[in-house]
Amino acid sequence: MIIQLKNKIDSNELEAITKTLKEEHIKSNFVETQHNKYLVCFTKTEFDIRKFGHLPGVQDVHSVSDDYKLVSKKWKLNNSTIQLCDTITYTKEPIVMAGPCSVENEEQMEKTVSHLVKNNIKILRGGVFKPRSSPYAFRGLGIEGLKMMHSFCKPYDIKIVTEVMQVSQIEEMLPYVDVFQVGARNSQNFNLLDALGSVNKPVLLKRGVSGTIDELLQSAEYIFSKGNEKIMLCERGIRTFENSYRNTFDINAIQVLKEKSHLPVIADPSHGVGIRDHVSKLALASLVAGADGVIYEVHPSPEEALSDGYQTLNFEESDNLIRQIHNLRSFLNSN
Ligand code: PEP
Ligand code: MN
Repeated sequence: MIIQLKNKIDSNELEAITKTLKEEHIKSNFVETQHNKYLVCFTKTEFDIRKFGHLPGVQDVHSVSDDYKLVSKKWKLNNSTIQLCDTITYTKEPIVMAGPCSVENEEQMEKTVSHLVKNNIKILRGGVFKPRSSPYAFRGLGIEGLKMMHSFCKPYDIKIVTEVMQVSQIEEMLPYVDVFQVGARNSQNFNLLDALGSVNKPVLLKRGVSGTIDELLQSAEYIFSKGNEKIMLCERGIRTFENSYRNTFDINAIQVLKEKSHLPVIADPSHGVGIRDHVSKLALASLVAGADGVIYEVHPSPEEALSDGYQTLNFEESDNLIRQIHNLRSFLNSN
């Protein structure tokens, strides 16, 4: 059960509600986010929601049986709009985030930012803290790389999405980041999720390498229940028995996530398939399947990229993809 509280609830009213819940042997957790106040309640026995609806300070009461509650669509039928930052709110237009797997050097950043500006892409992706299977692989330029990335984005008001790998990095990254990415390997790093719950910036939460849809939603619940409602769910492929491509891009998940949650869903076809030639078609397919946006890898010369070059588009391929996304958007809006 979710009890949505009035924003102006006073402490006496809140106390009276929790007292009533206790009397009914219902465990409750108080949650205050950027937008609302809630009591998330758990009980093993049947309860009558009418007992709480009339109490002073209560806005609404919803019965939600899912393990995840606040991210569930059972109580919030409208999709959450995506407030990426002060200047960017997405409703109907698909969000596009593009950039290299890793931030490498100034020339790469300069060329990539120009490519984004030319295509009216407003968000640059690029990792500076890189989770790599091998400790000998390129692991990113770290905070100095992020500052450099930021210096190239700022003049054009391009926003930055980049991966945070551990709690201790959050504070130093904050001034330079618009969206914190939680990578697939950290999808169940609960300390990191808790910490991002206290940050007033959006989080792009990736599905775990072998994560189920419910696990992804429960990870999102960690962030939401600590106070941050600005979450985007990201389908990036899962590990299966199939080895003809890097991951199995689970397009079903896009529809199912939209059905189960009010949070926006972003597709990452680059990691989803891991093969450059297939990325654009899968990006388009994701939008047809209902994704609110796509994130993909693009590099001035993918063959020379320090990570994930084999799944990275070159500028020409990215220009074509953007053109196709525009065409598709007109088609989807008119149907
Ligand atoms: C990335 O975005 O470059 C990345 C490492 O993604 P994932 O966590 O999905 O593997
Ligand atoms: Mn990558």
